[in-house]
Amino acid sequence: MTRCPGCFKDEQKTYCGACRNRLFGGKKVPFILPFSRSDYDQVTLEVTTDRMSISGIQTKISLALNAGRLKMVMSGGQHILKPRPHGMFKRLEMAPINEHLTMQLARQVFKIEVAENALVAFEDGELAYLVRRFDVQPDGRRSLQEDFAQIAARSEEAHGKNYKYDGSYEEIGQLIRRHVAASPVDSERYFTLVAFNYLVNNGDAHLKNFSLIRDDQTDEYNLTPAYDLLNTRLHLPDETHTALELFKDGFETEGYKANAFYAYDDFVVFAQKLGLVESHYKRILERFIPEQEAVFSLIECSMLSDECKDLYKKHVKDQINAFSYSHAGLR
Ligand SMILES: [Zn+2]
Repeated sequence: MTRCPGCFKDEQKTYCGACRNRLFGGKKVPFILPFSRSDYDQVTLEVTTDRMSISGIQTKISLALNAGRLKMVMSGGQHILKPRPHGMFKRLEMAPINEHLTMQLARQVFKIEVAENALVAFEDGELAYLVRRFDVQPDGRRSLQEDFAQIAARSEEAHGKNYKYDGSYEEIGQLIRRHVAASPVDSERYFTLVAFNYLVNNGDAHLKNFSLIRDDQTDEYNLTPAYDLLNTRLHLPDETHTALELFKDGFETEGYKANAFYAYDDFVVFAQKLGLVESHYKRILERFIPEQEAVFSLIECSMLSDECKDLYKKHVKDQINAFSYSHAGLR
C-alpha cells in the first residue's frame, strides 16, 4: 500500500498517524479486518431475521475496538461498516470507494465537517467503507441525535413509503433556524453541504441524511457532521440530481423555469431564504466553481476503476457548468 486508506496521504503502509487518532483514538488498527465478507453476511442475516418481526428495520451491525482489532458487536460499537451492497444498480463494487472518496472531497477540498471515515478490507480482500459514529462516545454513552424526517414528523405510516423524500431543502433550513441556537453558523454549514451534494451528484440526500445532535453539556442542538455522501449517479445514471427540491411549495426561479436545472441563481435565492449574509453565501458559492483541479487530483488518488474516475470527473464538470451559469446575470 502506498497511500493512507483514510486520507490518501502518500507513502504510508497503513493508516497514517492523523487518521489513527481520528478513527481509533490513536490505537494501531490493521487495515485488514479479522473476519471475511461471508462471516459478516452470516451475522447480518441472523440479526436481521431476528429483529425483522419487531421493527421491520434492517439492523446495521456495528464494530467495536477490542484489543486493537475491530470486532462485530450487536450494540454499543463506535464504528459502522458498510460493505458493497447487493442489488441491481450499476458498479456497486465501487460503492464503498465512492463513498470514502466523496467524504474526503467534502473534508479536504471544501472544508466540510464529516464523520471520520476510511476504507478497510475484509479478510478475503474485499474493500468496505468504515465510519466512526459521532453520536457514540468512547465510554459507550450516546448523544441524542434526530434526523430531519423525525424533526419534520414524516413517517412511513403517515406519509407512505417515500416519506424520506417528502420535503424540501428549504424546509430543512427553516427547521435548523427554529431548533439550533447557533443557527447562522449551522445554516451556512447546511448551505455548503447542499451545494456540495449538487456538485458531486449526490442524488440521495434525503430528510434522513441530515440530523441534529444534542450537546450533553449545554442541551443545545447543532447540525451533525456530514455522512452518507456519495456520487449516486455512478450507480443510478438516470436518477434526478437532487433527492429533494430546493424550494418548498413548488417555487421555481426564472432560471429554473427556463432550463429545468439548478444553477447559480437558484443557490443565491436558496441562500437568501436560509437567511445567509450575502458576502458569506457568495464566497461559499464561488469556492465551488474553481476547485475542479483539486477535486480531480483527489479522484486520481482513489481506488476507483478508470471508468469510474472518468465518469466522476465528467459528472463534476457538468455540475460546475451548472453552478457557473446565471440566468439573471447575478454572477
Ligand atoms: Zn491518513
